[in-house]
Amino acid sequence: MVPLMCGIAGYKGTEDATQVVIEGLRRLEYRGYDSWGVASINNDHIELFRREGRIGQVSISRIGRSSGISIGHTRWATHGGVCESNAHPHLSFDSKVAVVHNGIIENYQELRSGLQSRDIALQSQTDTEVIPHLIALELTQDTSFAEAVRKACLRLKGSYAIVAVHQDFDEIVVARDGSPVVIGTRMDESDKEFFVASDVTAFLDRTKEVVYLRDGDLAVINSSLEVRRIIDASHVDFKIETVPWSLDEASKGEYHHFMQKEIHEQPQVVVSALAQDDSALAQASSWIGEAGRVIVVACGSSALAGMVGQAYFRSLAGKDVQVVLGSESDSIIPCLSSQDVLIAVSQSGETADTIHAVKTAKAKGVRLISIVNATGSSLSRISDIVLPMRSGPEICVVATKSYISTVSILARLASMVAKTDITSFSNLSTSMKSLIASVEPQVAALAVRIAKSKDIFVIGRGLLYPTSLEAALKLKETCYIHAEGFAGGELKHGSIALIETGIPVIALADDSTRALIVSNAMEVRARGGWVIGVDTKPNEAYDVFIQVPDLGLLQPLISIVPLQLLAYHVAVVKGLDPDKPRNLAKSVTVK
Ligand code: GLU
Repeated sequence: MVPLMCGIAGYKGTEDATQVVIEGLRRLEYRGYDSWGVASINNDHIELFRREGRIGQVSISRIGRSSGISIGHTRWATHGGVCESNAHPHLSFDSKVAVVHNGIIENYQELRSGLQSRDIALQSQTDTEVIPHLIALELTQDTSFAEAVRKACLRLKGSYAIVAVHQDFDEIVVARDGSPVVIGTRMDESDKEFFVASDVTAFLDRTKEVVYLRDGDLAVINSSLEVRRIIDASHVDFKIETVPWSLDEASKGEYHHFMQKEIHEQPQVVVSALAQDDSALAQASSWIGEAGRVIVVACGSSALAGMVGQAYFRSLAGKDVQVVLGSESDSIIPCLSSQDVLIAVSQSGETADTIHAVKTAKAKGVRLISIVNATGSSLSRISDIVLPMRSGPEICVVATKSYISTVSILARLASMVAKTDITSFSNLSTSMKSLIASVEPQVAALAVRIAKSKDIFVIGRGLLYPTSLEAALKLKETCYIHAEGFAGGELKHGSIALIETGIPVIALADDSTRALIVSNAMEVRARGGWVIGVDTKPNEAYDVFIQVPDLGLLQPLISIVPLQLLAYHVAVVKGLDPDKPRNLAKSVTVK
């Protein structure tokens, strides 16, 4: 399984296209990449500029200005090492076609051999390079450029978002099947502009009007926009939608990093997340109540949020819910029927493993509820009910506010299925806000001590057990510290063997779990470990005490906050960039 998420940016309009594309690529940097490149059409030929590493402060005049059309890419290598010749855009054998691509062409070996047998010399080791060659071969006197791209797409197996240009055509052609790409438009009387990108943050400063493509769509951008189906070139009616986010929400503002900003936004996020459409919530809770099986399908932090939800459904509503990882969902599919409900959780709505599970379950008639942040995403389109996270753009690769939204929504749903109210919802936002303000200096000081650790353990019980897993994941991904979450009671069944002098153990507790967690903390201390207690009340078992407000059933939503802040501050102490951890990508769009 390979994680990846590159960035695509394209522009057709009256401004310096290269400049617009570079700005777009910079906004997509958060998605993670190892090399980058731009192709601009200039005086009827393509100027190509590609580099390994980051974009940095490169000057536009070095890349080559363009008066009309430019496309660019930040690559997250899958096929072929990280080097300039493997970076996108890739050119056709006649140097007239340039292509950027996100995804994987699964039949690339067969296509490469076919091209080689036609004496086409391949210039890279990538799967992507076959695409511009195939387009150039399809282009004849009687075929339009868009038609050549469409025909080339019919030969591809795998997943792609493709943006293609030709030096002799004043147009950009975009094709999508399995990887995300959106089109922004600005159509004033006097000037028309089109933007192409992997997500809207790339061009949010220029337009909020977007067209979301579906899988199997091909968009042709020239003096206007036209959308066709790849399979048969049939015409598609598209809608121009308005993005509900502003650029302010997608910029760091007064904060040093997006991670810190996004943690600080959480008190507001819980309010927006809970402001769901009542009829959608009522429908979802009645489906869940009636369902035979209820499965949450998700990956990473979304799956851990799903585990908190599972605990709510079981304990509040007596409804058994299972959490299945998207990548491990194949075995559950044969057990599902049309009596069942699947709750899919994905911030981007593009997580390939989750979408795979959803598609196979849907084919069996399973009802699909999704919790998703990105409107217009693949997941939201195929769902019967969408409960939007309403977190605003989450730019930091590491999930914080989307996790909080998801847990809030699942808690609300479980309480509706149980026909009870969770009264502490009314204090959640204000308690979280004052906690962040009071605890951040303490946590920042603690981070200096934690930063030296090689291993950290996090323990919790009941509702706080999945919280311990999420806390450990934050520490792993932002600080590169080996961290493991455990159910407190499990420690003695094996892992306590790892406790030795100086190892920090974070213990999450509340009124219902304190007695047993304190015993676990004492066992750890007896073996030389030191304990950081995250609890509503102090206890002598805690070497360091982080006090959190008592929010009863909503404790998982409040107890995670100091640990998100801890992960953030440890990363800062270690000189790491918490927004772009190594080897990670924001949304994982291949299996
Ligand atoms: N599979 C392509 C490559 O390795 C595209 C990678 C990406 O999506 O960044 O070049």
